[in-house]
Amino acid sequence: MSFKKDEFVFDLIDKEYDRQLHGIELIASENFVSPEVMKAQGSILTNKYAEGYPRRRYYGGCEFVDEIEQAAIDRAKELFGAEYANVQPHSGSSANMAVYRTFLEPGDKVLGMDLSQGGHLTHGSPVNFSGQSYDMYAYGLDPETEQIDYDKLEEIAREVKPKMIIAGASAYSRVIDFERIGKVAKEVGAIYMVDMAHIAGLVATGEHPNPVPFADVVTSTTHKTLRGPRGGLILAKKEHAKALNKTVFPGIQGGPLEHVIAAKAVAFNEALQPAFKEYAKQVKANAKAMAEVFEDSPLHIISNGTDNHLMLIDVTGMGITGKWAQERLDKVAITVNKNSIPNDTQSFVETSGIRVGTPAITTRGIKEDEARVIAKLIIEALQAEESELESIKQRVHDMMDGRPLFNQ
Ligand code: PLP
Repeated sequence: MSFKKDEFVFDLIDKEYDRQLHGIELIASENFVSPEVMKAQGSILTNKYAEGYPRRRYYGGCEFVDEIEQAAIDRAKELFGAEYANVQPHSGSSANMAVYRTFLEPGDKVLGMDLSQGGHLTHGSPVNFSGQSYDMYAYGLDPETEQIDYDKLEEIAREVKPKMIIAGASAYSRVIDFERIGKVAKEVGAIYMVDMAHIAGLVATGEHPNPVPFADVVTSTTHKTLRGPRGGLILAKKEHAKALNKTVFPGIQGGPLEHVIAAKAVAFNEALQPAFKEYAKQVKANAKAMAEVFEDSPLHIISNGTDNHLMLIDVTGMGITGKWAQERLDKVAITVNKNSIPNDTQSFVETSGIRVGTPAITTRGIKEDEARVIAKLIIEALQAEESELESIKQRVHDMMDGRPLFNQ
């Protein structure tokens, strides 16, 4: 049997490689994984079925994947100081669904951060399983400070008495006070879930306070600041181990993706190394450097700055929308995503903002001075005439060319 390369797919992968290599990647939820993470994920482990958990499988031939999955579990526990870890969720959304289904009945009350104020779809949006199956209540930002309104959150929690409170966000640039939210959860008798997907790499290195000591259960993705393969993770107190395991498999998933779990194990080990702490620090320093440049322009950063890897930028001061900004930046090989801002007057499709993050450029070796140049390029591109875009794109390419995707 001859093997004919699938030119259609592989040509497109080559094109995507070039796009990633020559452009400036600022999507806050993206990163570039190490060659070792890629190697594990692209390995023959993709061939293996292993329903169940290490040493309790429903298939033969699991002696090696057992050790790999156990290593991923042990490393995740060590990285975050957790009593229990489940590394099988296929994604962050699956991890969150597993938590809902473990602790709640359909129709139960849940309090989460509003999507339009920085929360995630799985924290209660009406187009998501969370908003469709549960009775969702939302907290958000103080209109003055544009930071989480903890007083209001507490007020709602006391009034509603939700069965579960969710902390965590997708577009929030400030430190989240996990301890404070945990206190009100305890007071009202709610399960306390933290979704640290965006900031997991910062938490792993002590660059953001760790929610694990305060929360009943913590979920995450592994592919954002944590710089692992695309996937999910659940951490919890030991007492919830059995119930959570049962919900993930056989509750909502079948066979675990052992090639992805191997890549998670490799990424967790990388995150345990001193170099990863330096990386996480640089991610924050680069975000601060960019924020200072933006604040000196007609752009406005929600909450006036950043403590983490991202910022949400109101672009209306330039008389443009988020969609227009995203498309304009695409033309100069700078990738961002449009994003609603609090109390947005535009639709979810148009939006008044963009979200900008530094995990990916930092992996490529960018430091503060270049981060400032990138922020200036963004401002220039948003204000330029169409005829000037080619030369801005050339400057983007000049900056990134010769710089490997993974440059740590
Ligand atoms: N939770 C948060 C806070 C997120 O930002 C995201 C993704 O952006 C998710 C969960 C969902 O992750 P996934 O896309 O892997 O389902």
